[in-house]
Amino acid sequence: MACSAPLTNHHDDGTLCPADHKHTSSGRPLHPDCPGRAYTQAICSCGGWEMKESGKGYVNESRNRHFASHTQGPKVLRDLLRVDGS
Ligand SMILES: [Zn+2]
Ligand SMILES: [Zn+2]
Repeated sequence: MACSAPLTNHHDDGTLCPADHKHTSSGRPLHPDCPGRAYTQAICSCGGWEMKESGKGYVNESRNRHFASHTQGPKVLRDLLRVDGS
């Protein structure tokens, strides 16, 4: 099963910085309610990976690496996830 981990942007207090919060190319917020983007987060649908980093490119890269590890050993990963008791 393919997993997905959409990137989301967040403010410093952890709230979501939605797509309609536009920013200048230098990262300055244009929306009056937006304190600015503090970090980018991605949580994989498999539940076995998540990441929170200020660098969007780094999150993207790590996510791709995680996806690659999925195709190598999805069964091992599923076994590990069974520990949560579900
Ligand atoms: Zn925002
Ligand atoms: Zn995954």
